[in-house]
Amino acid sequence: MADVSQSGDRVELKGFYPGELEEFVTSLGLEPYRARQIAAWIYNRGSTDFAGMTDLARGVRAKLSQRASILNLEVAARIGADDGETVKYLFELPDGRRVESVLMRDGRRRTLCVSSQVGCPLDCTFCATGRMGLIRNLSAGEILDQLVFVRRELRARGDDLTNVVLMGMGEPLLNYANVVRAIRLMNLDYGLAIGIRRITLSTVGYVPGILRLAREGLKVGLAVSLNAADDALRSRIMSINRRWPIAELLAAVRAYRKRIDRRVTFEYVLLHGVNDSVEDAGRLAALVRDIPCKVNVIPWNPVEDTAFVRPPREAVDRFVRILRNARLTTTVRYSRGVDIAAGCGQLYIRPDAAETASGG
Ligand code: SAH
Repeated sequence: MADVSQSGDRVELKGFYPGELEEFVTSLGLEPYRARQIAAWIYNRGSTDFAGMTDLARGVRAKLSQRASILNLEVAARIGADDGETVKYLFELPDGRRVESVLMRDGRRRTLCVSSQVGCPLDCTFCATGRMGLIRNLSAGEILDQLVFVRRELRARGDDLTNVVLMGMGEPLLNYANVVRAIRLMNLDYGLAIGIRRITLSTVGYVPGILRLAREGLKVGLAVSLNAADDALRSRIMSINRRWPIAELLAAVRAYRKRIDRRVTFEYVLLHGVNDSVEDAGRLAALVRDIPCKVNVIPWNPVEDTAFVRPPREAVDRFVRILRNARLTTTVRYSRGVDIAAGCGQLYIRPDAAETASGG
């Protein structure tokens, strides 16, 4: 059975697989097929209580209310960016901790960037979230509820969520079990029924996690935050590289790609004067040339109290041109919502301030 989290003596159902829900409902003396009905209410329709589950008899609903609960994140703030296309949600978890999710609209695409941890145990020097340290892992239900919540809101307006990226706060592969459970539930028909090709996980390059995910048979998209093309530089800005250097990381990425038969994405945060030279671009191109991939160049988004500089347009263009000339599929992600600190690497909640969210 899942990590059974209980509120009072009630069992928390959000995060249960259909099979586990079945075990639970039969333990209450209900018919097994009730599990599917309940899963559809919880995940698909986003119900937050049993009272509204109208295809269940009143007595059944009452029994469920006594014995079970459905996690429901509170939204503490909802901030829209100037572009009108990006919304940052600040969610409050049952223990009062907070995480952020970012909704981005792009044409017909509605992508939610979800968090997997409160804070992050890594200390990448250019990222705001790393400054929080790791406060705790999110449960599968807490990861999922970011999606359930936003989707319910979109649907109420006749819109819908189409894509998911695990690129919010935290390192997903360091919260492996809960993240994999959440991804499976996003994908399952009795879960959120989001196609696996519309789900992407981004990792700092935690090699054991990538290898384990390759064996999972999940075919979730993989994005890797490479950010530097030589070990000396990468180790300087991302300490994870001291333990798992580039060659090992790329070997894991190759193994993963073979398993899922899908292009991987390399993210490359462009830091002016640090990793944006002509030589850096050439090294990057040479490094990933033989891997079916896409490179996503992200001009650095400002984080307070750091010495980094956002590259000027010309430096970005020059860098991208070199990659494209080397025949690499390259996109530039001018992050959405920088004005509301919702850009990549800007998600941050001051540890001392439960009341205010602060952009990095
Ligand atoms: N921990 C995972 C998931 C977070 S994804 C990972 O590192 O991949 C967040 C992405 O934003 C990563 O690619 C990271 O390298 C990038 N990033 C971090 N700080 C940034 C900043 N200040 N500006 C732009 N991108 C940043």
